[in-house]
Amino acid sequence: MQEFAIVVENVEKRYGSRRALNNVSLRIRRGVVYSLLGPNGSGKTTLLSIVVGVLKPDGGRVLINGRPPDDLDTRLHIGYCPQEPAVYGRLSGWDNIFFYAKLYGVQKEDAYRRARELAEALGLGEYLKVRVGKYSGGMKKKLSLIVSLLHDPDILVLDEPTTGLDPSSRREVWDLLLKLRKEGKTVLMATHYMDEADILSDTVGIMDSGVLLAEDHPENLKKRYGPPAVVAIKLAEKPTDIDIDKLVEGLGNRYYLDEDTLKVYVEDPDVVLPKLVERLYERGIRVDLVKVDRPTLEDVFHNLTGKRLKQE
Ligand code: ADP
Ligand code: MG
Repeated sequence: MQEFAIVVENVEKRYGSRRALNNVSLRIRRGVVYSLLGPNGSGKTTLLSIVVGVLKPDGGRVLINGRPPDDLDTRLHIGYCPQEPAVYGRLSGWDNIFFYAKLYGVQKEDAYRRARELAEALGLGEYLKVRVGKYSGGMKKKLSLIVSLLHDPDILVLDEPTTGLDPSSRREVWDLLLKLRKEGKTVLMATHYMDEADILSDTVGIMDSGVLLAEDHPENLKKRYGPPAVVAIKLAEKPTDIDIDKLVEGLGNRYYLDEDTLKVYVEDPDVVLPKLVERLYERGIRVDLVKVDRPTLEDVFHNLTGKRLKQE
């Protein structure tokens, strides 16, 4: 068994003079959820297409379970959900499912059982009889996801799995992905939503302009590239007569007192906050309100690129 489910080595891709991927390398261990986070045009779809073997790189190589991605056997291990749902509008949901099941050599009964279960989880169950031409974009995306999972692949490659979905549908897809992760699947996905990358991933790779700028666990990225967290404590009354230097000693990098609110810049709010409140309590200072502003992956992206990730 290969240690890495997916290996990308020095991959290059050009479209004419435009460099869509610039020497991208990454390794994804079995059972890990890895998200590529970057704005539109950063090269996510190009990279995923190369990983699944539908696009050839101009340089470098990809190994899936230690083998090239266009190897027929390898293909059966990959479930690929492209950015644009690959489903047929003139067929019903079920007919799409049975068409793809046949393509992947999945028994009709197995496909039926599996699709039922997945459609139930995604709230699509009652619509599978309906012609896909009548589906909303979000429903097509869900059907496309179901279809990509029919053959129970151990590696999932999902391109923007929740783009175009309403908030409750996004939640359903997240829950499904968390379940698949528990089952030990390896997931490589692309997203431009920082919350999605943050919640679902073991590793986030930050992409911009065809370059993989940084990769790590989301919390580590925030610690390394994000601003410090801010603990803001509104005191019951404006403090007089206390030594704030002493109060925050060893807890924060900087602080300032704005009227009755004390703001402290800290590395680890979960450790600092209880200590700070305890010190206030010891000094007989009552607390009205506590607020913690934590760094986000948006901050990480901004610090790395000088640009904003948000586009909607
Ligand atoms: P993302 O998925 O992050 O939005 P893409 O991989 O789709 O990024 O695109 C990366 C870059 O490559 C963009 O500048 C895009 O315009 C360009 N590009 C993508 N596909 C093609 C294509 N078929 N022909 C020419 N340029 C393309
Ligand atoms: Mg894309």
